[in-house]
Amino acid sequence: MPIFYECQRCTACCRWPGQERLTAEEITRLAAFNGLSEAEFIQEFTRLRWDRGGLALQEKPDGGCIFLDGDDCSVQPVKPQQCRDFPNLWNFPGFEQSCRALPHLVGEEEYQRRIAEIKAKGNDRA
Ligand code: SF4
Ligand code: SF4
Repeated sequence: MPIFYECQRCTACCRWPGQERLTAEEITRLAAFNGLSEAEFIQEFTRLRWDRGGLALQEKPDGGCIFLDGDDCSVQPVKPQQCRDFPNLWNFPGFEQSCRALPHLVGEEEYQRRIAEIKAKGNDRA
């Protein structure tokens, strides 16, 4: 049976080092959500990706995501797909030691339904 991880919104994954890659569509949505032009948003909230292949979200000096506000994501309705996909669609060995998502053993059909829900959230805001 597959395991589905239910996020507990502990925000640990918003605080550890890494990079949140941004697609062009996500930049458009994030800029609009923040009441900025895309150029303004890019200037203020993004940086070049490590591989120079695109843009990623800017980080705070402590390494946390620029949109982490206390214990909340200030762009929750339009957060990047990469944020939505963790830890079910991507993760890394030992992630369970830092991530508090609750593992649920679910049937194959239920697993596919929940995964489809995660993916759909990235598309229903276009
Ligand atoms: S955009 Fe929101 S969910 Fe994604 S890393 Fe930043 S604070 Fe966390
Ligand atoms: S995915 Fe894990 S680390 Fe990130 S907020 Fe949810 S429970 Fe916390």
